[in-house]
Amino acid sequence: MFAVHLLAFYFTKLKEDQIKKVDRFLYHMRLSDDVLLDVMTRFQAEMVKGLERDAHPTAAVKMLPTFVRSIPDGSEKGDFLALDLGGSKFRVLKVKVSEDGKQNVQMESQFYPTPKEITHGNGTELFDYVADCLADFMETKNIKHKKFPLGFTFSFPCIQTKLDEGVLLSWTKYFKVRGVQETDVISSLRHVLRKHKDVDVDVLALVNDTVGTMMTCGYDDQRCEVGVIIGTGTNACYMEEMSNIDLVEGDEGRMCINTEWGAFGDDGSLDDLRTEFDREIDLGSINPGKQLFEKMISGLYLGELVRLILLKMAKKGLLFNGKISTALRTKDKIETKHVAAMEKHKKGLQNTKEILMELGLTPSEEDCIAVQHVCTIVSFRSANLCAAALAAILTRLRENKKLIRLRTTVGIDGTLYKTHPQYPKRLHKVVRRLVPNCDVRFLLSESGSAKGAAMVTAVACRLVSQRKQ
Ligand code: BGC
Ligand code: MG
Repeated sequence: MFAVHLLAFYFTKLKEDQIKKVDRFLYHMRLSDDVLLDVMTRFQAEMVKGLERDAHPTAAVKMLPTFVRSIPDGSEKGDFLALDLGGSKFRVLKVKVSEDGKQNVQMESQFYPTPKEITHGNGTELFDYVADCLADFMETKNIKHKKFPLGFTFSFPCIQTKLDEGVLLSWTKYFKVRGVQETDVISSLRHVLRKHKDVDVDVLALVNDTVGTMMTCGYDDQRCEVGVIIGTGTNACYMEEMSNIDLVEGDEGRMCINTEWGAFGDDGSLDDLRTEFDREIDLGSINPGKQLFEKMISGLYLGELVRLILLKMAKKGLLFNGKISTALRTKDKIETKHVAAMEKHKKGLQNTKEILMELGLTPSEEDCIAVQHVCTIVSFRSANLCAAALAAILTRLRENKKLIRLRTTVGIDGTLYKTHPQYPKRLHKVVRRLVPNCDVRFLLSESGSAKGAAMVTAVACRLVSQRKQ
């Protein structure tokens, strides 16, 4: 009996020591609420800058008008096609929206691969490929004989002056296609579709995935006025008062603003919070100096952040007895899905051991505990930073409405948010702590952003037919 107690004591002590060691090593990544409130204030200032006519050209956070003026009102109906490009997977969908008393949406979809030749090729190849996939989808579903309105979920920063136009500001994440930046992706898509005599579609809307998510969730919850993505990349949109949007004429009503918060910090405003690991991630990325906030948060980078930290700790003799494997030295060998697995409740420690062994390491019990804690600090920082920016948006909404308390819904999606076991819980908790005067409901977008893109297209469709009458 005594021995059992002693063992338990020994194990607790061992665990505490490892956690303390990692905490000390990564103290710069553990953000207190004071720091988060400061980040929130900084982001509030960024939003103002992005919206103002004079400050906009040099603003890091672009605050792009989307020309989406309301969330769905339930009167949308019809059959639509949607393309979803730029998230973790490329998808073509058919969405059927019926207005049968209780709203009803049916979807059929098909995933298509996006090989490196496509994501790193040239624009013509990309759009040809997209059109070919669309044609293939219509062939498989046997719907080539019919004309469809189409919505394009394109998850990159685009300048829009209307719903069916989007000039790509810059590629992000793992896309780098030549000859597309500063051009209108809608006209490029229309152009290649003209070559497909068998495909008859009307490209009516370009929709950022955050906007699609807000619209998808808005269909189920009328209070939804924010959309957030925490996936391969990260971003948010929300409904802003027209009177605050200098870039668009008119002061009546509201319009959805795509914040492009991933670019927060690109002007140096987060430099005091970025670590040597963040700088290394940035230098090794395809867009150095860009999307610095995103690189501290999103799924494309978390695994690599963990790897860089483990490598440094091992070099310093703090892990694996100072031994380093080839895999541990190799870029992208640790992925975000591994981080999620290592943090899994109960099975996490065992998963950690297996993952480290697959990397050619021979971890001790202590190593596994320490590595697991590194994962926790990295993914917690991600959730903390998202929470701070989201708290800024919620505060802005509350102040726009001149309310003391705001009750609202945030539509949310993204692979990191959906697959990391602890992420949602942590994010919600921190947001509620940072903005105690907001009652927030987080609504997971079960069906992705394409359903929302179909909603936007449905509204556009109605407007087109009204104009024709
Ligand atoms: C893009 C955003 C997008 C986000 C999530 C970012 O890299 O710039 O437009 O919403 O990723 O997909
Ligand atoms: Mg205005």
